Amino acid sequence: KMIDLNRFLTQVIRTYGDAFKRTLHLESGLAENVIIQIDENKLKQLLYIFLDNARKYSDDVIRITAGSEKSEVYIRIEDRGMGIPQKDLPRVFDRFYRVDEARNSKTGGSGLGLSLAKEIADALGVKIKLESTEGIGTAVSIFIGI
Ligand code: ATP
Repeated sequence: KMIDLNRFLTQVIRTYGDAFKRTLHLESGLAENVIIQIDENKLKQLLYIFLDNARKYSDDVIRITAGSEKSEVYIRIEDRGMGIPQKDLPRVFDRFYRVDEARNSKTGGSGLGLSLAKEIADALGVKIKLESTEGIGTAVSIFIGI
């Protein structure tokens, strides 16, 4: 299905912002009508997983930026939360893996979000990249070929 990426993002961010009762700040550097062919529901699920993590592990504004690079468009979700310790980074996409149960106990969760995100990304044929610094924050990017 073809979707207008700016319109899609505006709508998704409004819906999740309301549901989360959090400020989601969208900044799109994409041209006005970038149309991509993608499974809209799967892309929504992917965004939901990343936004839900940003919500759980930070208290501040969550920034979403979109743009294009060569033959790809990207969507980036950035939080200024607790971040992930370097040593845990290689494992956060594993099933059931959670960084230090103690610090996570108040957020709940089963450690499945990111492993599911990886499966969805593979099914969609998109790339995901996670960058994080403990105490600074986390950024997750989705790269979609066009
Ligand atoms: P759920 O299955 O409900 O998503 P979860 O959030 O624990 O539970 P994942 O989404 O797989 O599971 O994330 C794995 C771990 O990575 C988390 O437990 C958390 O420690 C860490 N993590 C993920 N996203 C962030 C983030 N934005 N900021 C800080 N830590 C994060």
